[in-house]
Amino acid sequence: MTTLAVVGTGYVGLTTGACFAHLGHHVICADIDEEKVARLQRGEIPIVEDGLERLVTEGIKSGRLEFVVGAAEAARRAEIVFLCVPTPQGEDGAADLSYIEAAAAQIADVLQPEAVVVNKSTVPVGSTKVVERVLQRSDVYVVSNPEFLREGSAVNDFLKPDRIVIGSESQAAASKLAALYLGVPTPIIVTDPASAETIKYAANGFLAMKISFVNAVAAMCEAVGADVEDVVLGIGFDKRIGHEFLKPGPGWGGSCFPKDSRALVKIAEDHGYNFTMMRGVIDVNEQQRLRILAKIREAVGGVLHGAKVGVWGLTFKARTDDLRESPSIAAIHELLRSGAKVKAYDPTIVEPLSGYKRDLLQGVELCADPYGAADGVDALVVLTEWDEFRWLDLEKVASVMVGNCLVDARNLLQRSAVMHAGLKYVGVGRL
Ligand code: NAD
Repeated sequence: MTTLAVVGTGYVGLTTGACFAHLGHHVICADIDEEKVARLQRGEIPIVEDGLERLVTEGIKSGRLEFVVGAAEAARRAEIVFLCVPTPQGEDGAADLSYIEAAAAQIADVLQPEAVVVNKSTVPVGSTKVVERVLQRSDVYVVSNPEFLREGSAVNDFLKPDRIVIGSESQAAASKLAALYLGVPTPIIVTDPASAETIKYAANGFLAMKISFVNAVAAMCEAVGADVEDVVLGIGFDKRIGHEFLKPGPGWGGSCFPKDSRALVKIAEDHGYNFTMMRGVIDVNEQQRLRILAKIREAVGGVLHGAKVGVWGLTFKARTDDLRESPSIAAIHELLRSGAKVKAYDPTIVEPLSGYKRDLLQGVELCADPYGAADGVDALVVLTEWDEFRWLDLEKVASVMVGNCLVDARNLLQRSAVMHAGLKYVGVGRL
């Protein structure tokens, strides 16, 4: 059993802490948010993430999982310290390392000799050096161990990852870190820190590229009269292509792809390479948002001012409560700016709202169920792929709407079922 500290108890930190405790380690999770720490100490999970509550409860009961306020409090007792703090987009597109630097400064004086400090946050190439500079400790190691979990399946992704990547200049530190993952059967790639950091950005860049690609193909399908769902089926059976991540929609969002794709362009630019392909991926994503907005405008008869729009789905994807950079929120803000009225329903976003969620949803009428969000609207838009939207009574939906158009920005519903209910169906890249 190794004693670990996890600094930052957000989506990544809390999952990391709870999973390592589940694997048998003693984990001390730290956050600067005192209220969050108090809630976690009581076993209350501040986020929606499948299986996480069970692991946190199990960890607290076994005594292997603790929550404390402040990074130093956790780091002073740990052999290995994971930094899981935010790395938001800075003004110039580069990742803002101020949270990482602040966390490193907070732990510098209390680290045990031979401690390993792990960058699990997504950080640009060279960030292990940044942490080393802040720590000013020649007796500790700094390594990179990027995280690839997806919100919505974070626990499963952590315990059954496709691979683990460790970037370290010290073989001893890499081995110490690799030993923590005993019990996680997956390939471990040990490389230098710059390669590990690049792997994370390249992976996210590639995934964003797949979505932008399929959205571009969907636009082409609309132009030539093809059906993108059949096209994806047809290309996906090619083993070199596969079916994964080729789902047309309102564009990618979330807390990672937008900032990481811009950071990738910026890292390349700073090192003299113009990553035009990644710029194109970002451009296609912005175009896609406009294309969805144009569909909504058309659905309400061409004028958004004064129109009533119902929205199903607010989170950036299903099975999470995360609204950060959600395409749904971007669309809603644009609708409100154009003078439309917006009612919305999402299974994880319920009153009373607080913090950033309340700010993002200002001016939106939040409904308790999907029928409420359809009631009295000129058009209804599906913006998140929540499974429950597939099984609704569409005739009831049609009966409460004023207008008769359903824009399915996720290609989630059966067009025939929507039409059977007397509604007009508008999908993405579909005939
Ligand atoms: P988050 O915003 O959900 O959580 C970050 C937490 O860190 C917050 O609770 C905050 O209060 C805390 N914090 C900030 N400074 C601190 C400090 N000095 N000491 C203690 N706590 C501190 O962030 P997240 O989504 O978990 O992302 C963290 C990092 O992991 C980012 O770099 C992100 O890009 C990366 N990442 C995220 C995901 C994801 O799906 N969310 C996946 C892979 C990688």
